[in-house]
Amino acid sequence: MNFRTRFAPSPTGPLHLGHAFSATLAYDLAASSGGEFLLRIEDIDQTRARAHWEQQIYDDLAWLGLTWPKPVMRQSERLPVYQTALDRLWNLGLLYPCTCNRKDIAAAASAPQEGVPLHGPDGIIYPGTCRALLKQRDPEQYNRPLDIPLRLDIAKAARMVETRLPAFQELGSGPNGETGLIPLSPEDLSQTIGDVVLARRDMGTSYHLSVVLDDADQGITHVVRGQDLFEATRIHVLLQAVLDLPTPIYVHHRLIRDDTGKRLAKRDDARAISKYQEDGATPNDIRRELGL
Ligand code: GLU
Repeated sequence: MNFRTRFAPSPTGPLHLGHAFSATLAYDLAASSGGEFLLRIEDIDQTRARAHWEQQIYDDLAWLGLTWPKPVMRQSERLPVYQTALDRLWNLGLLYPCTCNRKDIAAAASAPQEGVPLHGPDGIIYPGTCRALLKQRDPEQYNRPLDIPLRLDIAKAARMVETRLPAFQELGSGPNGETGLIPLSPEDLSQTIGDVVLARRDMGTSYHLSVVLDDADQGITHVVRGQDLFEATRIHVLLQAVLDLPTPIYVHHRLIRDDTGKRLAKRDDARAISKYQEDGATPNDIRRELGL
């Protein structure tokens, strides 16, 4: 069976128990399916990525007993791939530059329609200010700016692939127990996600764009990751349809929380894998603690 999964951490802090859970789950699933487990370093945010955190990722995963083919894919080496996809989306008329800052967005979104959610996977749902402005411009006069974030016109993208708007297979579950075949609808995309940023300022890409291109280029068949990314999966599946890329199967898993029920974050050093190691725990102790 063709089964390939991956773990895709960002080298911006220490891996904690939640990362250990995600990586080990993906690794075990690949092993039990006779498949392959790949590692990818998500380091597009060069202001936060650090070489020593990347090294720590390799050390922690190796200590946990995981192995992966080398060399690993590193996003910082793939900027031309992201640029090509942005060119394509731009030429399809699906992107527009956005000059709004956080304050502008919060102010414009402060009078939401009743029954329409205020927040999506990337924070406040963008109210479309710059999209409306662009309509008044002559596109012939307009060159794509390099240093301004680009947003996806999500309603237009959904319309473009409407007749083949895909659903995705969820083998795990979303935060509200969503599982099985999860359909995408244009209304849902517009109302609960909105026009997300696909090229961040000074970065030339974004998590959403890179993850879609990287999963496709690595031939990932099963994406194993935390439930916090379940909603973002709708964006990824839409982009796969627009860019003619295959949609993998998704396995969203429960989140590992601290004693107060809060999801672990990189700053929770106490749960860092290296800390457990220093305190004399074994990889099996970690597996036991995670119920694996
Ligand atoms: N770099 C992302 C993170 O650390 C990974 C997201 C994914 O698995 O798609 O949260």
